[in-house]
Amino acid sequence: MQKNDLFRMIVEDMSEEGEGIGHVDGHTLFVKDAVIGDEIEGKVIKEKKTYAYGRLMQVVSPSKDRVTPPCPVAAPCGGCQLQAMNYKAQLAFKEKKVRAHLERLGHFTDLPMEPILGMEGEPFRYRNKAQYPLGRDRDGKLIAGFYAGRTHQVISCGDCLLGPAINQKILDSVLSFMENCRIEPYEETTGKGLVRHILIREGFATGEIMVCLVINGRKLPFAEKLVEALLAIPGMASISLNVNRKNTNVILGDEIINLYGPGYITDRIGDVSYQISPLSFYQVNPAQTVHLYGKALEFAGLTGTETVWDLYCGIGTISLFLARQAGKVYGVEIIPAAIENAKANAALNGCANTEFFVGKAEDVLPEHFRQTGERADVIVVDPPRKGCDKVLLDTMLAMQPSRIVYVSCDSATLARDLRILCDGGYEIERVQPVDMFPMTVHCESCVRLVRMK
Ligand code: SAH
Repeated sequence: MQKNDLFRMIVEDMSEEGEGIGHVDGHTLFVKDAVIGDEIEGKVIKEKKTYAYGRLMQVVSPSKDRVTPPCPVAAPCGGCQLQAMNYKAQLAFKEKKVRAHLERLGHFTDLPMEPILGMEGEPFRYRNKAQYPLGRDRDGKLIAGFYAGRTHQVISCGDCLLGPAINQKILDSVLSFMENCRIEPYEETTGKGLVRHILIREGFATGEIMVCLVINGRKLPFAEKLVEALLAIPGMASISLNVNRKNTNVILGDEIINLYGPGYITDRIGDVSYQISPLSFYQVNPAQTVHLYGKALEFAGLTGTETVWDLYCGIGTISLFLARQAGKVYGVEIIPAAIENAKANAALNGCANTEFFVGKAEDVLPEHFRQTGERADVIVVDPPRKGCDKVLLDTMLAMQPSRIVYVSCDSATLARDLRILCDGGYEIERVQPVDMFPMTVHCESCVRLVRMK
């Protein structure tokens, strides 16, 4: 197999990244946008020793699971790896992925896995947050959109079908402000220009909208004109700037300069209200978040007296769900602005039995345990993709909680961490995959572990 070779193959499987996998003359080929069951024609674009990457040229005979992606930029964008597959098949793909990780990487067998909880309504327009990079197209026109898969070239796309239709209006408003005031988009290659990203967040339960412009500087010329234009959009509740002057892929910097509003928006999940700042993490799919947190609460098995730790607590979302059925809840989170939100949220919802700490979970928990020797009844963790630090897992084992609830957005690191916890005396009682991110390959899981006697 050589670059530019043409091939025909049947897609037999799908990779974790959502590429179709097939075989041609003993070579394994990975092809983006090909669906399991498709017969395709493709062209080799990159060759490795034992496998190759191909580009989909034509679907000769479509899989029974293939659908026409409704988004016009589904293929070049790369954000929706599974849009060409029907939703039922997407759910099966994710369930299989979680199971494979736990079995292969965690060496678990006979897993008590429940069927994945998928979205009940349309699996589109579910995201409450979007971050649009800016650039110029070939004609030099200012655009906002997404990076083409694996590149940093911006493709124009104001109406991402994962988010609300209002985003397009907000982007149009910001872009025409920039054109009128001659404000340049940031250019990664030269480090020149001002506006890097437009962050939009909407509280779906309240209709409150937040817009934050990430800029390569500390001042936005004519900022008052931007505020005036954005306030014409119903629900506009918070407008701010984020300062990011680093030459980095990381979207947000540490500093927020407030332009309008209280510095946060408010949203509700179930009957709990939350204030959310631009720098704080907040689950992106509220329709599913309520199911995810419901499972976390159910798996925690609280009776009203327990001491609970919620590690990686963000703005205290899970903490407050737990607090109403626990004796005491401690939350730990690394972002100071999120802990400010968490404290305000506890007050807002009358949860006086909570206490929040800023810091790394792997620093705060061991230190607290060393100083107080206080055990925990239940520990909940909800780490980012890289999973939990080993020091944290060891401390959790030393604290001997009766139950551990592990909420994970990456089943590979989940498998690794569950193995450590199970070798330390815990048993997996339930595994519940939840689809928080339809059209993408990502899958959330909630796991209940109990301490063996
Ligand atoms: N449970 C929350 C947040 C989960 S996201 C919710 O559902 O909304 C993971 C959170 O962990 C983020 O808020 C991130 O800022 C935080 N975080 C990342 N590394 C951390 C660490 N080492 N210690 C504590 N928090 C951390």
